[in-house]
Amino acid sequence: MNLETKLSELTGIGPSLSYKLSKLNITTVGDLIYHFPFRYDDFSQVVNILEAKIGEKVTLVGEIWSIKNIFTRSKKILTQAIFNDGTSPVELTWFNQSWLTKQIQTGDRLQISGKVSKYKNRLSIIAPTWEKLTTDIPTHRHPDTLIHTGRLVPIYPETSDLSSKWIRTKISQIFPQIKNHIKDPLPDSIRGKMLLLSEALEQIHLPKDWQMAEKSRERLGFDEMFLVQLATQKARQLWQGKKAVKPLKIDQDNLNDFIKGLSFQLTKAQIRVIEQISTDLKKTYPMNRLLQGEVGSGKTVVAATIAYLTHLNGLRTLFMAPTEILAFQHFDTISKLLGPYGITVGIYTGSRKKLSTDIPSIIIGTHALLSDKLVIQDVGLVVIDEQQRFGVEQRSLLRSKAKVPHFLTMTATPIPRTVALTVYGDLDLSVIDELPKNRQKIKTYVVPSKKRADAYGFIQKQIEEGGQAYIITPLIELSETLTSAKAAKVEYERLSKKIFPKLKLGLLHGRIKPKEKEEVMKKFREGRINILVSTSVVEVGMDVHNATVMVIEGAERFGLSQLHQLRGRVGRGSRQSFCLLFTENDLQQNVSRLKNLEKIDNGMLLAELDLKIRGSGEIFGKRQSGRFEFKIASFSDLSLIEKTRKAAQKLLQDNPALDKYPLLQAQLASDQIAPD
Ligand code: ADP
Ligand code: MG
Repeated sequence: MNLETKLSELTGIGPSLSYKLSKLNITTVGDLIYHFPFRYDDFSQVVNILEAKIGEKVTLVGEIWSIKNIFTRSKKILTQAIFNDGTSPVELTWFNQSWLTKQIQTGDRLQISGKVSKYKNRLSIIAPTWEKLTTDIPTHRHPDTLIHTGRLVPIYPETSDLSSKWIRTKISQIFPQIKNHIKDPLPDSIRGKMLLLSEALEQIHLPKDWQMAEKSRERLGFDEMFLVQLATQKARQLWQGKKAVKPLKIDQDNLNDFIKGLSFQLTKAQIRVIEQISTDLKKTYPMNRLLQGEVGSGKTVVAATIAYLTHLNGLRTLFMAPTEILAFQHFDTISKLLGPYGITVGIYTGSRKKLSTDIPSIIIGTHALLSDKLVIQDVGLVVIDEQQRFGVEQRSLLRSKAKVPHFLTMTATPIPRTVALTVYGDLDLSVIDELPKNRQKIKTYVVPSKKRADAYGFIQKQIEEGGQAYIITPLIELSETLTSAKAAKVEYERLSKKIFPKLKLGLLHGRIKPKEKEEVMKKFREGRINILVSTSVVEVGMDVHNATVMVIEGAERFGLSQLHQLRGRVGRGSRQSFCLLFTENDLQQNVSRLKNLEKIDNGMLLAELDLKIRGSGEIFGKRQSGRFEFKIASFSDLSLIEKTRKAAQKLLQDNPALDKYPLLQAQLASDQIAPD
């Protein structure tokens, strides 16, 4: 038997159990061993019942005096036993486990664990865990042989019919057979004083004491984070071994003139970032940089500036946006910025695929840019906007090329720096941490449901004063689906007919045809639509200066950073802007979470709050989070992040090929945690 052995091959695990296990994603011995308890019941105190306090968790050793099944009036089955530990009788009760009377008989000696209570003035324990004692020696002297009582007892996330008891039993049977086959992938120099992997895996399930439970978590959490660090550092190393299409020459005077020619003054942060990027472009290996900047911080103009520099070197830029709407918007913006310099700008999306025979110098598009049919020579720069990462397809696209363009990935997602250093550790990081000066704070309110009518009145007034509004319909599914499109449509109908009959409303969602989308966007931008009703998926990155109100329905379904990003669609012009959050969940906890947005307008702080309140899924988006679903480690554990990052760097420095560590190599290959 080893970690790869299929559980279905073991005796005692038939098809029905295998099925239940597979629902927990457990098919091999290894999967079972890596199914960790989420807490322990501390039953390590073996006492006399008379010493125990009501409400205390205890372990008792004694004898069954009687046991029987009772049918209640509501047709439930109770199993009731009288148990005596030599000091006093105790009543034991189990629900719906009638088979117990076959397993436990009068006269049996048991060790039981549970919480002491009092029922009708009798001492009682509800649903105790139990195990039979085979000798008369008080068993708490052999804690190793006990798994359900008299110790720290692991409790597993339970589903359907797989009880913690079953899992404990199986693991305690299987583990001794494989313990010696578990090799430790970490070299001693990195493991230091941490437990050996085999010890950690044993102790996480059946810890000797709290200290060992803690130590096992330390080791296993280290492994999780370390592997991500190793994968990203390795990817970084590989990337830096590539050759850039060509190292660019940067004409500083020309660059300064370009910046002077803009209609606004760049912020210090924008200038700093442009400098960081230009330094990369001069290198012989391709740039791979993540540009992070709050919504509205002005990433587009930075990208345009870099595209301009690339053009001066006789190379093309591909600019990839996540949606057609954004591609069209960027096409507008960048044409205006670069057209005057005689630079040709083209667009290439699912619905518009025409490029003139003179291939433009800058091509803006969607994923369609990746199509095999599109062959563009002399690409020097690839910009990817508002996207977490470029995916597998892009990677394979690159692999076929001997020389690689420079890559700039842009995101408004405020990823805490430590997290970025881990998950995006293969990328260099630039941050625009400053908004253009003309911005005003967006006044934000969580609106109680009884004030909804007032809120609509307020919107009406804002529009009469020349503003525009977005109304975001609730996130129903994680991706744009028929249901969420329908919800947006229903809300659009309701608002147009019942609430704002005199205003012009527009509707946007992922299922609308691109031509129509473009039309709606255009109308909204030109002020011919007053209120844009939209799902949350389409609007990322929209830039309409006149919009002053952002309404978000079902705000409870969004993370704080997401809400912050939605809010960032307004407040781009000189007018005071507002964000109104509606929620269907009036629970104190939800409302106070949302109220953070009333006070905080710093995206990074909100992201850190998300990390604390909801975990890392919020940061990476649902699509990505699976890759980093740690069982133990956490991205809010800064010292773990630091420690593992240093360890990974050191290991790669000493042995760049990692060939001295075949086990680690194998894990990297199998875990698919390498960045796409
Ligand atoms: P994001 O970083 O969210 O992509 P955009 O690039 O869309 O932001 O910029 C938001 C708006 O701010 C745009 O209308 C842009 O023209 C404007 N902008 C960018 N930089 C500055 C600046 N330094 N001063 C004033 N306005 C700016
Ligand atoms: Mg943008």
